Amino acid sequence: MPAKDEELEGKCICARCPTYAECVRRDKKLLFCFKGKAGCQLERYGCLCGSCPVQKLRGFNGVYFCIEGKVLIK
Ligand code: SF4
Ligand code: SF4
Repeated sequence: MPAKDEELEGKCICARCPTYAECVRRDKKLLFCFKGKAGCQLERYGCLCGSCPVQKLRGFNGVYFCIEGKVLIK
């Protein structure tokens, strides 16, 4: 990943999301929109991606990247 993505990870708000379960918290997984699916079973309890600054910075929209997988940009 380009160095800038580390910076983006710091802006990811997934850790505050009700869907963010123990399996991802334990591994400190974030930035699913670029890194892809969580890789463990998650139930949909809501998604905060719509109000995430990363979406505005990178110019995309979407939700549930932890379940659906990476965003496809251009
Ligand atoms: S859009 Fe969602 S997955 Fe991507 S950084 Fe923001 S909160 Fe995390
Ligand atoms: S991708 Fe969306 S649903 Fe999944 S943990 Fe992040 S904010 Fe929550």
